[in-house]
Amino acid sequence: MKTLQRTLTIIKPDAVAKNAVGDIIEQFEKNGFRILAIKMLEISKHQAEQFYAVHASRPFYSSLTNFMSSGPIVTLALEKENAIADLRKLMGATNPANAEDGTIRKKWASSIEHNAIHGSDAEETARFELSFFFAGYELAK
Ligand code: GDP
Repeated sequence: MKTLQRTLTIIKPDAVAKNAVGDIIEQFEKNGFRILAIKMLEISKHQAEQFYAVHASRPFYSSLTNFMSSGPIVTLALEKENAIADLRKLMGATNPANAEDGTIRKKWASSIEHNAIHGSDAEETARFELSFFFAGYELAK
């Protein structure tokens, strides 16, 4: 029996500003991810700080949370077998200079910070991040 896994992805403000939303969503579908839920929204600096609380001690925390609250984002709940690792592979390395050909960051990221897309990095973070943006009833499918 297939074990499906869920992950949370964010199309970041830089990618939304570049009109890359359609292209990135097409990549999810072409690579076998099912879209369970999707929303476009803007978050405040405070909300970005809560989302990225694990990075609070990092030198780029303030800059990152300013960036993530600088314009519209698109959040999606995705499902497939091995969704967390497979999405990280499709995203490419955090720094686009190190991202492999064919990855979303290779195509759309412009810097280590403005890197187009976020994806949960483990099951526990996926649970926290999915519930940060989606209510239980929105994922009950
Ligand atoms: P990810 O899991 O690949 O998104 O990377 P991390 O969890 O390490 O970092 C979270 C986000 O912080 C990244 O996606 C970048 O937007 C940003 N970031 C990571 N490292 C740096 C850095 O060295 N400098 C800056 N300015 N931003 C960074």
